[in-house]
Amino acid sequence: MTTASQLPIVDLRSDTVTRPSKGMLAAISAAKVGDDVYGDDPTVNSLEERAAEMFGKAAGLFAATGSLTNQLAIKMLVKPGEELICDENSHIARAELGAAAVFSGITTRTWASQNGILKADDAMRIARPNSGVHLVSTTAIAIENTHNFGGGTVQSMAEIVALRQASLSSGMTMHLDGARIWNAHIAQGFELKEIAKYFDTISICLSKGLGAPIGSVMLGSKEHVASARVWRKRYGGGMRQVGIIAAAGHYALDNNLPLLKEDHRRAQILAQACAKVAPNAVDASKVVTNIVGIELGSLNIDSATFVQAAKDAGVWVGAIGPKYVRLVTHLDLTDELVERAAVVLADLLQKALVA
Ligand SMILES: *Cc1c(COP(=O)(O)O)cnc(C)c1O
Repeated sequence: MTTASQLPIVDLRSDTVTRPSKGMLAAISAAKVGDDVYGDDPTVNSLEERAAEMFGKAAGLFAATGSLTNQLAIKMLVKPGEELICDENSHIARAELGAAAVFSGITTRTWASQNGILKADDAMRIARPNSGVHLVSTTAIAIENTHNFGGGTVQSMAEIVALRQASLSSGMTMHLDGARIWNAHIAQGFELKEIAKYFDTISICLSKGLGAPIGSVMLGSKEHVASARVWRKRYGGGMRQVGIIAAAGHYALDNNLPLLKEDHRRAQILAQACAKVAPNAVDASKVVTNIVGIELGSLNIDSATFVQAAKDAGVWVGAIGPKYVRLVTHLDLTDELVERAAVVLADLLQKALVA
């Protein structure tokens, strides 16, 4: 008999767990490099230009992480003592460990949402631009697309346009946390330039669904990117022959973008298998990209127990809250692995219903 321990692990904790493919490793080893702090690395320079061109922005800055590109961007938009507003479950508010306050003296206030889905009115209701001497002035708004903790949800273009129109008249700027903008682009079919034009700065990740081992790019005006380049160095984020990493980014853009639709299809398989046994825990109709949220609120199991039981059965998933578990599909999965995970997870949910 084959036991769970003899089968390959199905790792659904994140789309950051992928290993560089053979083709990507070949691109890395063939990369032309130079000292990027001197601006000499041709592979980094061409990746920055390529990303900027894709999004219709004037310039780009390569950095090690999406947290760093988010933080460099919002530093360009918000001065010390001013305020950034964002959704209460956004990565910037919850998962960057207070960096906006620590690095930039920025205060943050948040609006509540359902599944991270943007409603322009929710943001405008808490925005306080030009607040004078008594209140903190809101100077920028950050939007996450897709929304990670919201369950990979895609923002409505109409709400983004409405928010831009409402906020621009009082001088507020907008930042897009586009760590998974690629998934939104594939799911919704909009042009990258079309969405980018509503934002002053953008952060994109090559290390999520696109499968590069490292790498994010901040996009914006020439002035913002030049200043962010200085701050990147000041934080210790200047890298040298980093074309070996940028080459992986080029490879990901050349090859992996169309593969995201497979991730979305596989997330649907997982969502439907879970929803079939526990419709209160998973709403498959809300799963539109590569993230499946499992809400354990109505079941007799908590996240830690669920994660451990799944792990014992060879399936690794992530606990995002005490009663909320996240599954993420990615490049290193196969239909076979996904089918096996679906059986394991549905079985656990079934047991939690009757426990
Ligand atoms: C992953 C992620 C980031 C950046 O994360 P790093 O680990 O710092 O690269 C930013 N925003 C969102 C929404 C993310 O999911």
